[in-house]
Amino acid sequence: MHERFVEDAAGAVLGAVRELVARGLVEGTSGNVSARRPDGTVCVTPASVPYGTMTAGDLVVVDCQGTLVAGRWPASSELALHLACYAAFPEIAGVVHCHAVHASMFAVARRPLPAAVDEVAMVVGGDVAVAEYAPSGSAELGRHAVRHLADRGAVLLANHGMVAVGRSPADAMHVTAVVERTARIVAGAVALGGPVPVPAGDGHDLAATYRAARLARR
Ligand SMILES: [Zn+2]
Repeated sequence: MHERFVEDAAGAVLGAVRELVARGLVEGTSGNVSARRPDGTVCVTPASVPYGTMTAGDLVVVDCQGTLVAGRWPASSELALHLACYAAFPEIAGVVHCHAVHASMFAVARRPLPAAVDEVAMVVGGDVAVAEYAPSGSAELGRHAVRHLADRGAVLLANHGMVAVGRSPADAMHVTAVVERTARIVAGAVALGGPVPVPAGDGHDLAATYRAARLARR
């Protein structure tokens, strides 16, 4: 398929940034958001600019090799992770990376997050795996992450956090919020004796719904 893109990439990135802050999913300048632009370049949050005061003028545009096209700051330190997602999946036009607390608990314990809540299979595609460890900012991190994202909206990054992909930054943000909420629920369910899997069959249908929505024409 043709590469999916977001018409107002800067506005979409800023909207997702504001939601990350409002939901308490970022601390300081950690985490980053990007969107694929109509010309195939990528609009991404800059490194080390506080989210509270970030404006469209702070955002950075890079080409698919990561070369700076526009902007006055260096791009996010996790740029390679974002670019790996766009290179691997043409249907993706938004990426959100963050260190949300409950998702990071699973990432640190290197425990996959089971799709034990009904909505997860539909929004995320199923269980959320833990990608093989690679240092923050490395090209390996992106390579390990995309191995788990072909039929999933999110993957946990070992000892680090999570990354979510979607049809837009808002879509990837929704995936992020659902993963974080599920991690919180499952952590509590473990304390109550462990989550009971969703009965087989139902979960399969919901995962198919996820695939169809991700690949649907705009
Ligand atoms: Zn990170």
